[in-house]
Amino acid sequence: MKTLRYLDNVVTLTLDASKCVGCAICTEVCPHGVLAMDHRKAQIVDRDGCMECGACAKNCPTEAITVTPGVGCASYIIQTWIKGKEKASCGGSGCC
Ligand code: SF4
Ligand code: SF4
Repeated sequence: MKTLRYLDNVVTLTLDASKCVGCAICTEVCPHGVLAMDHRKAQIVDRDGCMECGACAKNCPTEAITVTPGVGCASYIIQTWIKGKEKASCGGSGCC
């Protein structure tokens, strides 16, 4: 669903491909088509389309996916106030 967008580069979504067992559940539950399968491994194909609903992480049987529901945007905005836009990040989730 590429028409609905969040802010660029603030999403807390991470995926550890080494833990992925290829069940494809995450691709089925994601409402925005953020994840896709490639050679029996999930991949993030549209990171900025993620709305941090948490459905993928909640349903992943191996905890390969992490996402902090709904805080990426707020965390980034607060950090821009405190640190300035150049030093702000999404809160140490490793995505930026
Ligand atoms: S739900 Fe988890 S294990 Fe299944 S394909 Fe997605 S990342 Fe891999
Ligand atoms: S958190 Fe929600 S929107 Fe983001 S990848 Fe997971 S299921 Fe998709």
